[in-house]
Amino acid sequence: MDARRLKYLEAIGITAWQRRAAWAPGGAGVPDAAAPGAAAAPVAAPAAAATPVEALGPAEPGRAASSGPGQDTAAAWKALEDAVRPCTRCALHSTRTQTVFGVGRRDADLFVIGEAPGADEDLKGEPFVGRAGQLLTAMLRAIGLQRRDVYIANILKCRPPGNRDPQPQEAEACTPYLTQQIALVAPRVILAVGRIAAQWLLQTDTPIGRLRGQTFRYGERGTPLIVTYHPAYLLRSPLAKATAWKDLCVVRDLLENGR
Ligand code: SF4
Repeated sequence: MDARRLKYLEAIGITAWQRRAAWAPGGAGVPDAAAPGAAAAPVAAPAAAATPVEALGPAEPGRAASSGPGQDTAAAWKALEDAVRPCTRCALHSTRTQTVFGVGRRDADLFVIGEAPGADEDLKGEPFVGRAGQLLTAMLRAIGLQRRDVYIANILKCRPPGNRDPQPQEAEACTPYLTQQIALVAPRVILAVGRIAAQWLLQTDTPIGRLRGQTFRYGERGTPLIVTYHPAYLLRSPLAKATAWKDLCVVRDLLENGR
């Protein structure tokens, strides 16, 4: 593992143990079984072993906008933004400061999907800001991605009061916007962060602990979908960071090698 990746792992709070560089005959301790000078290995093995690919592609709610040849995708994005900004489809419009549409490259290889805006996001109008957002940014950097290189959006575009879980009717009203965003970006990989995003995208109530560690397929395009823990949870439960690192390594392998 190179020094830069080690630095990023430290930044997200994962300790990467390194093999001893060499065993000096006559020195204290027991020689390492690995060859001296071998590359450092993280605690969490990168690239989880081949995960089962489950054809769980959910029926996509709402009608996705086409981004096929000849379509004016810029116009489609503008129409979508213009629809979201003043949206009153559910009661959350009455308590929001502003809608939180999404941010990032509109032709990104990776689409990160979270739950809903929190207080910081509601004020700034951008998903994943604040401490959880900083951790997400660091996690992306750890697999060689800049935040600006991916697209990030939430299941809901407006903040639920008190950061409560989204209610089913709110997700029902709002997720057609997300479905259109996914269709327009047409990512190579989707990363669902947190239980709410994962369960909606996969149309299941299976606990997140049983959803992560697998590669699902989303939608008609069969886009690989990986589930991991929400950065806000990782801030509260740092021991889970090593598990999340495994998920990120699967994302990295899918992006780099298509597997
Ligand atoms: Fe509209 Fe979504 Fe906001 Fe509800 S949460 S008002 S559906 S943008």
